Amino acid sequence: MCGIIGGIGNTDFRSFLLTGLTKLDYRGYDSAGVAYFEGDKIEIRKVCGRVAALSLLVPQTLHTKVGIGHSRWATHGRPSVVNAHPHASQSGMFAIVHNGVITNFKTLQNQLKARRFQFVSQTDSEVIPHLLEWYYTRSGSVMEALRLAAEELQGSYAVAILCKDDPNHLYYLKKGAPLLICKTQDGIFVSSDPTPLAELGGDFYDLPEGSYGYLGEQEVVCYCGETPTAPTPFPYSGVAQSNELHGYRYHMEKEIADIPYAIAALSDNYLSNGALCFDENLLSALSGAKRIHFLGCGSSFFACQCGVSAFRARGKEALASVASEWLGFPYDLDGTTFFILVSQSGETADLIRCQAILNEKAIPHLTVTNTKMSSLERKSTYSLLLYAGLETAVAATKTFVSEVVLLELLASALGGAAVTEADLNCLIEGANAVLGRRNDLERLLSAFGENTFCLATGRLLPIAREAALKLKEVGYLHAEALASGEMKHGPLALIGEGFPVLALVGEICGQEGLRASLEEIKTRGGVPLVISMASYAQDEDAFVLPNVPAPLVPSLFAIVVDLFAFVLGQSRNHPVDHPRNLAKSVTV
Ligand code: GLU
Repeated sequence: MCGIIGGIGNTDFRSFLLTGLTKLDYRGYDSAGVAYFEGDKIEIRKVCGRVAALSLLVPQTLHTKVGIGHSRWATHGRPSVVNAHPHASQSGMFAIVHNGVITNFKTLQNQLKARRFQFVSQTDSEVIPHLLEWYYTRSGSVMEALRLAAEELQGSYAVAILCKDDPNHLYYLKKGAPLLICKTQDGIFVSSDPTPLAELGGDFYDLPEGSYGYLGEQEVVCYCGETPTAPTPFPYSGVAQSNELHGYRYHMEKEIADIPYAIAALSDNYLSNGALCFDENLLSALSGAKRIHFLGCGSSFFACQCGVSAFRARGKEALASVASEWLGFPYDLDGTTFFILVSQSGETADLIRCQAILNEKAIPHLTVTNTKMSSLERKSTYSLLLYAGLETAVAATKTFVSEVVLLELLASALGGAAVTEADLNCLIEGANAVLGRRNDLERLLSAFGENTFCLATGRLLPIAREAALKLKEVGYLHAEALASGEMKHGPLALIGEGFPVLALVGEICGQEGLRASLEEIKTRGGVPLVISMASYAQDEDAFVLPNVPAPLVPSLFAIVVDLFAFVLGQSRNHPVDHPRNLAKSVTV
């Protein structure tokens, strides 16, 4: 899930590599490193931590024409300097950065150890430079070494490689992990995604799947096995999106404040002259399908569950599956089901695998994502963009709300009462009202310790799940979401004096049962903290939301739970933008 950056040509490599890595650290940020030439030697600098720490180790000027860098999200071997990339081969002939997982690394490690290679790290990646060195020593050709290594490596990999004997080329291997190049007048640059290359202003190309080869200053050579192949043009607009904080202290804080604008962007893009506008073919594919099957991971999975309620409310059969679970047992593949894949980044590895299964069977599907030209968007039959703007903080906030709103708009385009521009304006007003009452949420903080339940019913249950996820992500507390009716089937055993329970009350269905559960919790010493919607509010409720039209109720609750999680994480001095152990885009 790490980020790779590299290039060959005339550029300030210090600035290019370090700035590029900063832009990539949403893919993983537990350690970082670079490799470049100093005379005829390969120099490696790496740290356990973020790019700012790395920059202290890299000389002000690099006299190199080629360099590679890496921002890691550890899969094998804990975050440490030794496990950080780049990794060197035994004699230092090769230095590599790797994104992905080598599934047969144990077998390869044993073979290489028998050939007297010594391993210094606990990573799967370290087999790659040693394997290259083994074949290079025997064949005298880097390309032959790459070809033979590619035959042996199993799993997924994008690898950028420096060879000490050849300071004029940047070598690569690619299978099952993204690797793009950008050709400019100054040279050729490579990255695991286009973001850090956007401002170079060159032409983008995708390196062929299963290929290996090299980049020179103005040439790209690719092979699949023994057959020459060529990179395919990648129509990326190259517009760099702003990552500025605009006076906010945290990206998460700014992105929550952006929510009203994100809703307005959906209104601008999916409503025209007061009417919903979606592709007619998409609408007829949805109407014609026997049922709608949503696939997602994390927050996007909870958005999928909101989508299920939205479609069911319009009489359409729908269900949602966690992508990684569906992969273990793919079903609904007889052509009568329409799939909707939801992913903020459009790069979620599990969803990409789901999509490959759908595409192999030519099953039409829709991708909902915030990232134009992402892997999922490019290979989808239909796609709908969120237009929420760049989201940098690891915890999804504005993109989650946008996903929930967009799925509601799409469902309402199928029939029944349509969501109108006035409805969206009312939601924007409600969002602004909630965002202006941060102090009221701060008053609730003292009730929270290390554990909580998040209770809801019906359409608010996915939002309670999202609340529990956010409290884990940025609050580092154990939070569990429950349908309120489940309380007395076991979880009530945990309730004792002072145990906090967050409850979301916003619709008629299930309200009585939820209020009854809260009484039972109170009776046993628990502390219910109720967030309710005005028309269902009671005097003792902790935070009352303004009324919004029924289909948009979950969206407004999503905003308040995002804000609450942020306020809680910040009050505990947690790194809310970059929580421990996580990465924004889950690409392994
Ligand atoms: N498997 C490699 C490691 O743990 C790369 C992980 C990644 O792609 O982030 O170092």
